[in-house]
Amino acid sequence: MAMSAADKSYDVIVVGAGNAALCSALSAREQGARVLVLERAPRDQRGGNSSFAGGGLRVVHSGTEDVKKIIPDLTAEEIATTDFGVYTREQYLDDLARVTQFHADPDLAEILVDSSTDTVHWIRGQGIRFVPYYGRHSFKHEGRFKFVDGVVIAAVGGGRGLVDAEFKVAEKAGIEIRYGAHVTALLRGNGGVEGVRAITAGKQEELRARAVVLACGGFEANREWRARYLGAGWDLAKVRGTRYNTGDGLRMALDIGAQPHGQWSGCHSVPWERYAADFGYVDAHMTHTSGQRYSYPFSIMVNANGERFLDEGADFLTYTYAKYGGVLLRQPGSHAWQIYDAQVTRLQRDEYRERDTTKVQADTLEKLAERMEGVDAAQFLATVREYNAAVRRDVPFNPTIKDGRGTTGLAINKSNWANPIEVPPFEAYPVGTGITFTFGGIKIDNRSRVLDIADTPIPGLYAAGEMVGGLFYFNYLGDAGLVSGAVFGRIAGREARAFAN
Ligand SMILES: Cc1cc2nc3c(=O)[nH]c(=O)nc-3n(C[C@H](O)[C@H](O)[C@H](O)COP(=O)(O)OP(=O)(O)OC[C@H]3O[C@@H](n4cnc5c(N)ncnc54)[C@H](O)[C@@H]3O)c2cc1C
Repeated sequence: MAMSAADKSYDVIVVGAGNAALCSALSAREQGARVLVLERAPRDQRGGNSSFAGGGLRVVHSGTEDVKKIIPDLTAEEIATTDFGVYTREQYLDDLARVTQFHADPDLAEILVDSSTDTVHWIRGQGIRFVPYYGRHSFKHEGRFKFVDGVVIAAVGGGRGLVDAEFKVAEKAGIEIRYGAHVTALLRGNGGVEGVRAITAGKQEELRARAVVLACGGFEANREWRARYLGAGWDLAKVRGTRYNTGDGLRMALDIGAQPHGQWSGCHSVPWERYAADFGYVDAHMTHTSGQRYSYPFSIMVNANGERFLDEGADFLTYTYAKYGGVLLRQPGSHAWQIYDAQVTRLQRDEYRERDTTKVQADTLEKLAERMEGVDAAQFLATVREYNAAVRRDVPFNPTIKDGRGTTGLAINKSNWANPIEVPPFEAYPVGTGITFTFGGIKIDNRSRVLDIADTPIPGLYAAGEMVGGLFYFNYLGDAGLVSGAVFGRIAGREARAFAN
C-alpha cells in the first residue's frame, strides 16, 4: 500500500511524527488516504516531545466502570484498593478555564473535553494499551490509593510506549514514514496548499499532496525565538524534550498568511535540575522524569537571597507545576533550592534518588546553608525559622486532599501540606527552569483547518498538537497535551482526507 516519495501523489502529507502527527496520519489512513509522514529527526530520535512524555491522558470519566472500559485488565485488587474518583466534563472545563485565567478558547476547550474519552477509545481501538497512572496522580492513604486531580490513565510504557505503538500501527497500515526529512516550506498553488518543500540528506525536493497537516510542535527548542517571544532569560532555560521543535511549522504557516493565536509570550515550564543538559534525553539510566523536581508541595523553595518566593502548596502539583518554571526563571540567577527534612523525604518522587540528581545534605540547617552555594545563609536561616513558627501544627497533614495545613502570617504563605523543617538530615536540591512547550500557535477552527487573519480556512492546510494556539495561557492543565494532540490530530487527518477527495 505504501507509495514511494518519487510518485509524488499523496493525498495527505503530515509534517512531524509525534503523537499529534501520528494520530492525524492514522485517522487519514483510516479514511483511505495515501499518507506520507515527514519526520525531521533521525529514526532513533523520532517521536518528538510525545516520546519524552510521562504518558498521562486527562479524560472525562465517571469512576471505576469507565476506567475499566479503557483498561479492561484492571485487577480485582486494583479495583478494591483504588479510589479513581470521577472527573466530569464540567470539572475538566472549569479546570482548563481556571488555570488559563479564563483565556482558553471555549470552542477548542469543548472539543478537547467532549472528545477526550472517545478519542482514547479510538486510540485503544488501534491496539494501544493503558494502565492506571498511580505514580503521578494518586497517594496511598490509610491503605487505599486515592486519585487526587482527575487524571487516572497513562499509556503503557509512557510517552515512548505510546508513540512506539503508534508507529507500529502506522507502518502496518501502510503509512509511509521518512526520517531525517526537514520540512522547510509549504507549497501554495491555486488549490491552496499543495505540498511541502523538504530537505532530506542535504537534498531539497518538493513533495506534492492534496492536503497537508502540520503537527511539528512549538518553538521551545529554538533559543533565539525563546528570547524573542518569551523574553529575556528564556534563551538559557533547559529544554525538557526534543531538540527538533524549533518553530518551523509556525513559521511556514505564518509565511502563507496563517493567523497567530494564543499566548506567544507564554510556555509550559517546570522546576528542573539546575545542572541538566540543554535538551532532554532518554537512555538506559535516565528517563524523561530525571530532570523534574516535582515534590516541591512538600518542601519550601528559597532563592539565592534566602527568601521564599511562591506558595509551594497552593494546589495539587498538576495545577501549579507548569507555571512555576517561569517563576523560577525570574529569581536572582534564575535558580532556587528545594528544602526537605527527614519527615517528608519518604514522599519524594523517584527522580530525587536518581544518579544525576544534584543535592546537598547536612545534619544541621547551618551546615546545609554553607553547602548551598551562593545562597544568603543568614537570610535562609531566618526564613526557615519564620516558616517553622508559622506552620499550623494543629491541622493534620494529608497529601490526598488540600489539607489546609498551611502557614499563617507570612508575606507568602504556604497554603497546604506545610511541615516544619526541623528533623535532620536536611536536604537541598538546586533547581532551575525546564521548558516543555510553547503556548503560541496558529488558529484553527473546529475542523482543525488553519485559518487566515480573516478567519477564513486556508484550503488544504490543517494543524494539530503544540502548534495549535488558544488552549493554554499562563499555565497548563496537566496531561491535557497528549489528549489535545490526539483529538485535534484525529480531526485533522479525517478532514484532510475529506478535502483531498
Ligand atoms: C518531559 C515531558 C513530559 C511530558 N509529559 C506529558 C504527559 O505525561 N502527558 C501529556 O499530556 N503531555 C505531556 N507532555 C507534553 C506533551 O509531550 C506534548 O504536549 C505533546 O507530546 C505534543 O505533541 P505534538 O505531536 O504536538 O509534538 P511532538 O510530539 O513534539 O512532535 C513534533 C514532531 O515534529 C517534528 N518536527 C519538528 N520540526 C519539523 C520539521 N521542520 N520537519 C519535519 N518534522 C519536524 C519533530 O521531530 C517531532 O517528531 C510532556 C512533555 C515533555 C517534554
